[in-house]
Amino acid sequence: MNKRKMVLLLVLTFIILFPFNVSATTLKEYEDAVEKYTKELKEKESKIAKSKEEVEQIKKNIANIENQIEQTQKEIENLQKEIEESNKKIEKKSNESKKIMAYYQIENGDNAYLEYAFGAETITDMIYRISIVEQLTEYNKKVMQELKQLIEENNRKKESLSEKQKSLSTLKSQLQSEKERIEAEISGIEGTIPDTKGQIELYQNRVNYYRNKGCKSNDIIGITCDVPKKVTGSGSSSSVAPGALIGSNGFRFPVDGGAISWNYGSNHKGVDITRNRTCGAPIHPVAAGRVYYVGNTLDVYGAYMVIIVHNLNGRLLFSQYAHVQSNIPVRVGQDVDIGSTIAYMGTTGYSTGCHLHLEMSLDKGWGYNSSYSEYIRHIINPFNYVPRP
Ligand SMILES: [Zn+2]
Repeated sequence: MNKRKMVLLLVLTFIILFPFNVSATTLKEYEDAVEKYTKELKEKESKIAKSKEEVEQIKKNIANIENQIEQTQKEIENLQKEIEESNKKIEKKSNESKKIMAYYQIENGDNAYLEYAFGAETITDMIYRISIVEQLTEYNKKVMQELKQLIEENNRKKESLSEKQKSLSTLKSQLQSEKERIEAEISGIEGTIPDTKGQIELYQNRVNYYRNKGCKSNDIIGITCDVPKKVTGSGSSSSVAPGALIGSNGFRFPVDGGAISWNYGSNHKGVDITRNRTCGAPIHPVAAGRVYYVGNTLDVYGAYMVIIVHNLNGRLLFSQYAHVQSNIPVRVGQDVDIGSTIAYMGTTGYSTGCHLHLEMSLDKGWGYNSSYSEYIRHIINPFNYVPRP
C-alpha cells in the first residue's frame, strides 16, 4: 500500500471510529444511508427527465399558439380589406345616387325633377317618370344599407378576432412563465446532485470498509464487529497507578482508594463507591473494552454516564459508571483499558453526594442491544468479576 492510500485509510478509520455523536452505529445504518441517497438520486434524475419532457411539450404548445396568433392576424387583415372595399362601394353608390339626384336637380331646388315629372303628357306617363327616379334612388339606398350591414358584421368579426388574439397572447405568456419555472426547478435539482452523489460515495466507502472487516448488517460498528481486544488476565493495559486494586482475572476496582458505601442487593442494582466524600476522583474501567455511550440523555434524572462494552471471551459484558461529572474525557467508539481514566466522580442526576454508581450486566446492554426493561433482568453483581476492596 502506498503512502497516499495509507493516509486516506487512516483518515477514514478515524472518522468512522470517532464519530462526533454519542450513540453507537450499526452497519445497517450506513447501508440504509446508501440506499436512501441512491433512491434520492434516482428520484431526482427521474424528476429532471419528466420536467424536461414537460418543457418540450410546453415549447410545442407555444409554437402552436404562435401559429394561431399569426393565422388570426391574417384573418383580421382580410376583414380589414373587406371593410375598406365595402366602404369604397358605399362611396361609389352614394356618388351614383348623388348623380341621379343632380341629374334631376332635386337637390338644387330648380324643380327640374318636377318639370320632368310634370312634363309628362299623360298622368300615366307622369307616374311612370316619378317611379323611375324613385326606383333608382331606392335601389341605391338598399345597396348602401346592405354594405353598411356588411361593414358592421366585419367589424364585429374583427373585434372577436382581436379578443381571441389577446387571449392567445395571455396563454402564450402563461406558458412561457410556466416553462421558465420548470427550467429553474430543473437547474435547482441538478445543483443538488453532486452533493447526493457525494453522500452515496461516503456511505458506500464506509459499508465497504466494514464488510471487509467482516461486519454484518446488524453488527454495531466497533462493538459487535471489529471488536476491541478481549479482557485478559494480565498486563496489556497502559500505565496503572501503584495503588490500583487488580484481581487475578485482570479486572480492576474503578476508584483507587475508594470504599463501598452501598452494596449490590434487591433494592440496589449496582454498587456505590465513594472516596473521602469528595468529588473529582478519577474513574477507571473495570476491564479493557470499548466505550459505547457517553452523556446524560439515557438516564431520566439526567445523570452523566459512561457505558463500556467488554468482550468476555466472546460474551458481551457491560459496565456503567453513573453520576460522574460532565467533563468526560472519552468518546463513543474509543478503546479503553484498566489504565485509562474514563470519568471523574461527581453527583449529577438523582444523587445526594459525590459517589460512583457502578452497574454491570451480561449479554444485554442498556441503549446498546436492549431496552431498559430487558436490560435490568441481565444486571449482575459487579463483584462477580471486580475485586472487592
Ligand atoms: Zn447506586
